[in-house]
Amino acid sequence: MGMDKLSVRDLEIAGQHILVRVDFNVPLDGERVVDDTRVCASLPTIRYILDQGGVAVLISHLGRPKGKVVSELSLHPVAECLEEHLGVEVHETRDCVGPETESIVKRAKPGSVVLLENLRFHPEEENNDPGFALQLCEYGSAYVNDAFGTAHRAHASTEGVTHNFVSCAAGFLMEKEIRYLGVALTEPARPFVGIIGGAKISGKIDVIDNLLPRLDSLLIGGGMAYTFYKAMGLEIGRSLLDVDRIGIAEMILQKAGASDVKLILPKDCVVAAEISEGVETHVVARDQIPPDLEGMDIGPSTRVSFSKEISEAGTVIWNGPLGVFEIPPFEEGTKAVVEALVEATRQGTTTVVGGGETAAAVAAFGLEADLSHVSTGGGASLEFLEGKTLPGVAALSDVEEPNEEEVQYQESE
Ligand code: AMP
Repeated sequence: MGMDKLSVRDLEIAGQHILVRVDFNVPLDGERVVDDTRVCASLPTIRYILDQGGVAVLISHLGRPKGKVVSELSLHPVAECLEEHLGVEVHETRDCVGPETESIVKRAKPGSVVLLENLRFHPEEENNDPGFALQLCEYGSAYVNDAFGTAHRAHASTEGVTHNFVSCAAGFLMEKEIRYLGVALTEPARPFVGIIGGAKISGKIDVIDNLLPRLDSLLIGGGMAYTFYKAMGLEIGRSLLDVDRIGIAEMILQKAGASDVKLILPKDCVVAAEISEGVETHVVARDQIPPDLEGMDIGPSTRVSFSKEISEAGTVIWNGPLGVFEIPPFEEGTKAVVEALVEATRQGTTTVVGGGETAAAVAAFGLEADLSHVSTGGGASLEFLEGKTLPGVAALSDVEEPNEEEVQYQESE
């Protein structure tokens, strides 16, 4: 999926209302936004529209109100947060559709912002209802999607609306997501190293399948490594095991063995009796896991070998923590990988991190700004790496490249 999509930069904005799908699905603590990362990520697109003399009409969902008005899931706290960041008044509506909303939107002057209330207060949003989409379309002369995090869902605000606009463009955040994830899949600087971790092998099989033929090396860590050990005939004590997927792990090992891809599993691990802060930990070789203990993290010698692979890479793509990073004694592996990625980024390596838990891990160490790209979309980045088409991206207008004949014709004129 290359970046052949229309950009917000290509739109006529001055004096126009632009309907912008943003991802304001932020964590709230009653009346306040607890983490404003997503609000900040949307600022470049909003500011650009305002600077160009347009009206930014913002639409988003928040949480899972299941098609009903749930006052705790109002976007009001987000409006306040956005207002602080922008330094411009944010006009709010009590509903995302209806005559009152229409009149607030119509009255908005160039350079102003309107935030419509939570889209998911209406079941029509998730049902991708064409009538509902049409109502949203009334609010702008062009459409911008900057909500990568919901691009894997075909909802009224991400897919339905696009049928009624001539110009459907990617916002700056959307562009950045597609550029970094897309370049990694299609034209990575080599060596191309993939790091896959996390608890569940089930959620990552399609990613591994899609990445494996493109990679030079694949590093596997996290809870899923133990299912691979089992497939290799090792004893894993009380470590996480997905019995139903031992066969799949075996197949992946065979596929990698038959190809030029270097598949690297941890050589040592940190084991403990239980997942708790004060618990006693031990480092053991992977073929020495005691029957009564559980593998929680990659060991020190694996940290060194993973860091070396990262330091020699041209491109790294990473999804899934290497250990139970939420609990301090088991954060070392994930931390070492983040630090190696930061150093590699300084040396010119392109480092791309999938969203969700992995992004949370990077954020926990405060290092997200030191990597090339940390995706804002958990499910969406996984589906992208699986090679699936994201409906919210596919629905954006294609930029027509002049074909060769046309170019020649123009030149000979
Ligand atoms: P996932 O959603 O599959 O990417 O899994 C993320 C979770 O995997 C994180 O919450 C980690 O705590 C957990 N995790 C990582 N390594 C292990 C491990 N060795 N055993 C159990 N859980 C793990």
